[in-house]
Amino acid sequence: MKNAAFTLTAPLLAQPLSWASTAIAAPLKADPAPVVIVAGNLWDGLADNPLGPMELLVENGKISAMAPDVGRPEGARVISLPDHTVTPGFIDSHVHVTLRPELEDKIFDLSSSAKALLGVEALSILLGHGFTTVRDTGDMDIHGYTTCDLARALAEGRIAGPRLIPAGHLISTRGGHGDGEPLLGADSNPWQNSLADGVDEIRKVVRREISRGAQWIKFAGSGGFSSPADDPSQTPYSQEEMNVMVGTARDLGIPATLHVYGDEGIRRALTAGVRGIEHGNLASRDTLTIIEDKGVYLVPTQFAVIRQARLIDDDAFWKAADKPPYVRRKYRKYAAQLMEAAKNIADSKVKIVFGTDIGTFSFDTNNAGEFGEMVANGISPVRALKAATSMAAEMLQMPDIGVLAAGKTADIVAMPGNPFDDISVTEKVDFVMHDGAIHKSPGQG
Ligand SMILES: [Zn+2]
Repeated sequence: MKNAAFTLTAPLLAQPLSWASTAIAAPLKADPAPVVIVAGNLWDGLADNPLGPMELLVENGKISAMAPDVGRPEGARVISLPDHTVTPGFIDSHVHVTLRPELEDKIFDLSSSAKALLGVEALSILLGHGFTTVRDTGDMDIHGYTTCDLARALAEGRIAGPRLIPAGHLISTRGGHGDGEPLLGADSNPWQNSLADGVDEIRKVVRREISRGAQWIKFAGSGGFSSPADDPSQTPYSQEEMNVMVGTARDLGIPATLHVYGDEGIRRALTAGVRGIEHGNLASRDTLTIIEDKGVYLVPTQFAVIRQARLIDDDAFWKAADKPPYVRRKYRKYAAQLMEAAKNIADSKVKIVFGTDIGTFSFDTNNAGEFGEMVANGISPVRALKAATSMAAEMLQMPDIGVLAAGKTADIVAMPGNPFDDISVTEKVDFVMHDGAIHKSPGQG
């Protein structure tokens, strides 16, 4: 589609009735009355298996009791979910709420306010999918700080959506994975706030990102598949530059993660002291062992990456994906290596965290599809489910979420069936409670 204004407004205009009629747009505040959730089956985010029938008492946004019978306090609202499995609210640690695949080459055309509207729409959709916390790993508002503003608006209860942890912009070298300029004509000279070459620029950009509200620093430690001018094998930042990137953030109390595919970039980042690795889909077995030994978290975004490798010969898939030809060319080059590395990740003991890269693919697609993709790649259902709950909370250093227990935040979802038997039911979440407020309930759309 050529007209950016049209592609932006079309999905919003197409949806207003269904948007308004679902409960997503409604309650931002916790129910003042106690809520009792009667679960046919419950998984707490930690156990190797579901715990069976269980009840949760929710008061003032917190779980105040979890037991087979929590009683019925005066005035309590009882929600009965006999055929459901109740789990902690899901956490997607790799989203891009200000990005849409069809707008990837229009990032210089859209204003900050247009990107904010994309973000509001995306956040509502993610909450509807059962994601009560998301980390945005790359604001596409390359002049402003939209994801930081959205995080504040959510925290203040001005808009509906999950808890948002902004990682600011993807800090990139000029010509690297996060540089938008190659998408433009050769003689244009755009300004972008997240480019940094050399240690002095890196210090400035990292400090500015954090001052504007970034809670993680994310940088491009290798080339990518979706960018036109580089290759996943390239490692643009030197060891010295990565050390300064991660060290400057660390001195301000902020963890760092990076976009990276292969061994060299991963090893430099591990030396620099990152807390997380995004993608890592070309890591060798030896490199995975180092990640494991260092206790660093890996967000393998398999729905966005490995699925494209597996479907490399599927013309219908690529036609529907509507990507520029260089994307498929790059995936073809690395497809076998990506599939091999996915197997090695499943066989490893690396701390895997759930992340999808949604925004690089359509918000019409349920990002819970990552669960099924992980299981298809040999990751056990319990490991995939922990990756989106307790393990993600550990990586994010947010001990109040990701687990169901007395005293925890009431971020609770439910799905018909049992995800330990059929992982695809994670795409059918029809009960969503966030911070004690019910956003979606079976029968309520
Ligand atoms: Zn991403």
